[in-house]
Amino acid sequence: MRIAIAGAGAMGSRFGYMLSQAGNEVVLADLWAEHVKAISDSGLRIDWNGEDRVARLDICFPQDLSGHFDLVICFTKAMGLEAMLSQISHILDDETMVLCLLNGIGHEKTVRKFVPEANFLIGNTIWTAGLVGPGQVHLHGEGSLALQNVAVGDERARESAQRVARVLDEAGLNASYSDNVMHSIYRKAALNGSVNGICALLDCNLMSYGKTAQAAEISAEIISEFARVAQVEGITLDQDEVLEYVISTFDPAGIGEHFPSLHQDLVQNHRLTEIDYLNGAIARKAIEYGFRAPYCELVTKLVHAKEQLLGAK
Ligand code: NAD
Repeated sequence: MRIAIAGAGAMGSRFGYMLSQAGNEVVLADLWAEHVKAISDSGLRIDWNGEDRVARLDICFPQDLSGHFDLVICFTKAMGLEAMLSQISHILDDETMVLCLLNGIGHEKTVRKFVPEANFLIGNTIWTAGLVGPGQVHLHGEGSLALQNVAVGDERARESAQRVARVLDEAGLNASYSDNVMHSIYRKAALNGSVNGICALLDCNLMSYGKTAQAAEISAEIISEFARVAQVEGITLDQDEVLEYVISTFDPAGIGEHFPSLHQDLVQNHRLTEIDYLNGAIARKAIEYGFRAPYCELVTKLVHAKEQLLGAK
């Protein structure tokens, strides 16, 4: 398959590398000039589970992509998705499938502006990756992903989604087709939304947050707001199961010492966050559906205030 990776940061690099290793023709597209130059000049430098590797991968700026692509995988941060899609719109033809694997909720609205519903696939992944610097990534551990056609009920779109899942699976990405991918998207967003912003605001890791007397109550309230919005959209989240999972992440023997991505983005790197696509999306949707999600509203506002205090870009 000829595949473009639209947004080749940590996750885009992982997917691009694994898909190219499996024999697909992959082109990375990214807006960060230093990163594009580093990969063009010296290849992508990878720490692959502790082993140093260098991969020669094609990379260019989004507007310089050319020719037909069978698949475009979007891996920008949520705030960069619209700009990326507008810069690659010239390569999106009638046969190009577009797979959106960003974290968070509400990307359909953005993607639909550029991609016909029948070509639009959405998914959710638990793979991880870290960007060390321009042209350099950490790819550790294992993961999986699920994806589905957005045009539910369109048989041709379903077959395309299944074909894409097979190609990703053959590249070792443990990919599968799902009949209910929105449930996993909401579940993951609820997990992230109930700890990520809070750890950034409190400047702590999961374990330290978990030790506070307020942690279980705050996270439970946030999860209930995610569940109420999801329910309006026909998705049932098991709130007890989500909270139990969140509490299990506080354990230092597991991932308790981990600083969630929003902490890394905001506190460690002074970058803008995806909060508008986590708690912010729930706060907006709740109002649209006629109620309020006060915990999500407050977390979103406080994270935006902290972005300003830290001069995040
Ligand atoms: P990333 O920050 O590594 O890359 C996103 C974009 O930001 C890329 O275009 C990259 O080039 C650019 N960028 C990164 N650092 C920059 C800098 N210093 N200056 C200028 N540009 C810079 O993002 P990611 O972690 O790959 O995440 C992409 C999407 O995948 C997000 O929606 C994220 O929530 C989701 N996701 C991430 C992980 C993970 O482990 N990283 C896991 C699952 C889902």
